[in-house]
Amino acid sequence: MTDLSKLCIHSITTKPWGLREAAIKYSAAGIGGISVWQDAAAAYDDGYRAAGNMLRNEGIEVVSYVRGGFFTALAGAERSKAIDENKRIIDEAAEIGAPLVVLVCGATPEQSLFESRKQITEGIAASIEHAAAAGVKLGIEPLHPMYADSRSAVNTMSQAGGICDEVGHPNLGITADVFHIWWDDHLEEEIKIAAAKNQLFSFHICDWKNLPEDMLNDRGIMGEGVIDVSGIRRWVRDTGFPGYDEVEIFSNKYWAMDQDEYLKRIIEAYQALT
Ligand code: ZN
Repeated sequence: MTDLSKLCIHSITTKPWGLREAAIKYSAAGIGGISVWQDAAAAYDDGYRAAGNMLRNEGIEVVSYVRGGFFTALAGAERSKAIDENKRIIDEAAEIGAPLVVLVCGATPEQSLFESRKQITEGIAASIEHAAAAGVKLGIEPLHPMYADSRSAVNTMSQAGGICDEVGHPNLGITADVFHIWWDDHLEEEIKIAAAKNQLFSFHICDWKNLPEDMLNDRGIMGEGVIDVSGIRRWVRDTGFPGYDEVEIFSNKYWAMDQDEYLKRIIEAYQALT
């Protein structure tokens, strides 16, 4: 049996399960890590610190907290509010014991992507010392360009790397998600560059189904779609990346099915990666 100690599941992947139930199920399967989404953490009755302790008591490492970002807005006051919100999210991550906050950076349809990227850079620069003081890193997650209208003006590893270079802080790096970057013909090189600069912070996997029915909530399990997940993972591992393979799947179809059966399928698909 494949070692599952470097397999991490995002709490949203098995959304019907609460955090405690997810922890018990993941732990029983031998899964090593969890990335905690805000909704799951907020729904945990005893608070963030207790949620983190519960997960660790189950033998599950908290890999990241998802998600911060959304730094862009037309009005300066809105952008300031976003920075405050990100500081609050960083504090939640620190309480739960997550070493990393994943950033979905934002985009505002009424302004250019260039302006949005400038605001993202400013927002991150204004948040990074708060993160460092809390012992938390920030990972910019480039999103697929189909989300460039309103979710993220950062769509490639090299754009994310450019922001990392501009802000220039060791606590700032990149979250690479195969769903968003699999199409990029410079991907192998960009992964190498990010790793060489110590900017490759985390790695997300799932699959892109051929003609998804929904742009957001119809992701596939690894092997179900068109992404060469094994190949991209090899590029990531070849850099010496020591982190987890994080399964992050939003799927109305899979959320509707028996979650034990679904988790079994995820583990089988993970074990089939080469
Ligand atoms: Zn992701």
